[in-house]
Amino acid sequence: MGDRMDQYVDLISITPVNRERGRWITETFARTPRELWDEVAPSIANTDALASLDHDARRKLVAALRTARMYITSPPMSSRLPFSYQAIPGPIRRIVAKGIGRLRRSQSAKWARFPAFPIDLTTDALSDLILGDEPLNDPTPVIVTHDIDTSEGEQNLPLFLEIEESLGARSTNFVVPFKWNLDHGLLERTINAGHEIGVHGYDHGNQTPYMQPEMMARRFDQTKPFIERYRCRGYRAPTLLRTRELLAELALRFDYDSSVPTSGGLFPAPNNGCATARPFRAEGIWEIPLSMPRDAGLMFLGYGPEEIECHMLDSARLIRASGGVVVLLTHCEKVYSGNRIMLDTYRRILSSLAGDGGYRFMTMSEYHNTYLRGRQ
Ligand SMILES: [Zn+2]
Repeated sequence: MGDRMDQYVDLISITPVNRERGRWITETFARTPRELWDEVAPSIANTDALASLDHDARRKLVAALRTARMYITSPPMSSRLPFSYQAIPGPIRRIVAKGIGRLRRSQSAKWARFPAFPIDLTTDALSDLILGDEPLNDPTPVIVTHDIDTSEGEQNLPLFLEIEESLGARSTNFVVPFKWNLDHGLLERTINAGHEIGVHGYDHGNQTPYMQPEMMARRFDQTKPFIERYRCRGYRAPTLLRTRELLAELALRFDYDSSVPTSGGLFPAPNNGCATARPFRAEGIWEIPLSMPRDAGLMFLGYGPEEIECHMLDSARLIRASGGVVVLLTHCEKVYSGNRIMLDTYRRILSSLAGDGGYRFMTMSEYHNTYLRGRQ
């Protein structure tokens, strides 16, 4: 522990501080683990070395930090099982995950070394310190999303939509196309009320990102009727399992992806995420990172509704200060946010954001149309 400071590189000490754009940066986001820094910037250890970089080299450095823990290159256990992991009864999966979560909560220095949990904006800090050219959005866009993983989640969706509509928000809903018999009446009503539908994998079996290109393409071809029917423009990967190959395929078919968490926490693998709450291009597609801590991840760690509300509002404030985009994910199943207590929590979170004046609700497509279309 004596060498604790030695384990981190202090970005402010090696960067010519852009004080205006970097005012939001706290100590927490101005340091990066030493082994990570050595990986992304082996030759840059002091201010002089950094000052000698031209604009292009600085952009590359920011991209390298963002990408360092961005992909889940090898499938975690669940996608390597010879059968769908969802065949394991839900309660058992959840009990196992919760047990692991409680135990791991105290060990976050290991699994959330980078990005830190529940939120880490180090990539944005580095960008503002050495580039300072990102536009600052005011008001801050807030995109509320749901991953519709099951028929139960689908049937509970109206409970969420009602809260959103009462506060002037519209949500973006990522639906699994081939897992149960979809309730098309419900989905039609959802888009007719101004909400958006996106694609959430194929059958939620966690195989697609690791398939051979032809197999992967075939799955998306099969999804075409769904994509056309609901005018889907974006994608979120089940279990947030994403690879370069997946994003490259998505680039051919969608306007945006939102599968990369800012700070992944424990799932789907330790130390995963992009440490930015700003959109960026990856493999030819716009990535709109999942910037907020997720309901399921916080619940796995044993946090109660009030703590979850606190974490989410704190994270939203921080993202606002940094000039990022608030992207919130809640799951509609009863075991996650589809119960009375968590729905009340959801309502309070959205009410706070709606009443603040500093935020503006948008769907993913509205956000893409307003801020990203035509940008490279
Ligand atoms: Zn899912």
